[in-house]
Amino acid sequence: MAEKSEHYGIIIIGAGPAGFTAAIYAARGGVRTCLFGGIAPGGQLLQTTEIENFPGFPEPVAGSDLMTAMLKQAKRLGTEVLTDDALAVDFSPPPFSVSASSGRKYTADAVIIATGARAKWLGLPSEQKYIGKGVSGCATCDGFFYRGKEVCVIGGGDSAVEDALFLTKFAAKVYLVHRRGQLRANFRLQDKLKKNDKVEIVYDSVLDEVLGEAKASGAKIRNIETGETRLLPTPGVFIAVGHTPATEIFRGKLNLDDSGYIAADDSTRTSVCGVFAAGDVMDRYYKQAVVAAGAGCKAALEALQHLEEIKSGE
Ligand code: NAP
Repeated sequence: MAEKSEHYGIIIIGAGPAGFTAAIYAARGGVRTCLFGGIAPGGQLLQTTEIENFPGFPEPVAGSDLMTAMLKQAKRLGTEVLTDDALAVDFSPPPFSVSASSGRKYTADAVIIATGARAKWLGLPSEQKYIGKGVSGCATCDGFFYRGKEVCVIGGGDSAVEDALFLTKFAAKVYLVHRRGQLRANFRLQDKLKKNDKVEIVYDSVLDEVLGEAKASGAKIRNIETGETRLLPTPGVFIAVGHTPATEIFRGKLNLDDSGYIAADDSTRTSVCGVFAAGDVMDRYYKQAVVAAGAGCKAALEALQHLEEIKSGE
């Protein structure tokens, strides 16, 4: 049997809501489409327990269930979902190429980048020392280990508040430590947090040091108004201070903005004709699954249009 060609009409890199929606539209557009999903396709939503703002689900849906459904839908419509990671791209004159972790190379006439963004760290030496030994960037993954113990969450956005609420299912007490006097999280989440007896919100405070020996045993925090320090008896320290776009392999290949997000216009076009970007990798503001899905749809429609233009020699 002849070896399957590794040339595609559209290659999608990334397996979150943007990538899967792009795949659904691209495959339905009749174009041979593959999606780089890595070992665990699903993106950041795999770490979200309950999503109650994705339309179509009257009851909360688990992030992993939503992503599994998107994966199945993309496959059913004909997308080839690769378990490979994209290691390098070549966006010099088309066909574009993507080198994969398996050592294989894939080419395409259009590429959609939907690699998302990943959690940020504070950068404290003690934080780095105790990552995996008490310091975590994923409450959903590690919350279970703190049953009956006290934990703290650093941050004041939606992620921090969601993490704090999630952790109340296990922990005896949850401190939410925020650097300002007002949370950034949406009102609904704030309201839930403030009504939860297990939560103490510590305003105007920053993490100075994670304390411990072999493992973390506590957190030294400082009130930035008064200078007062306080020791929290928290063997679990969860960092939830935002995200960094996953654009390392695209640096120098197309234009990025000052924060490293891919510069793309409203129709998802990047600085390279034929390369499109969708989702959190180009969206520094909304970062919502439904917005990412919408951008994935736009990117696929634009990519299909681009292929039509190539065909008709425009
Ligand atoms: P975010 O909105 O950027 O919030 C980051 C939080 O961390 C802010 O409160 C920020 O403080 C704080 N922070 C940043 N750097 C810090 C530092 N060095 N030291 C201490 N604190 C620091 O990030 P996010 O919460 O991850 O949310 C990202 C996006 O995803 C948002 O658009 C959010 O709405 C969305 N999201 C939505 C949901 C949902 O709807 N269910 C869930 C999760 C995330 P300041 O407030 O002082 O800037």
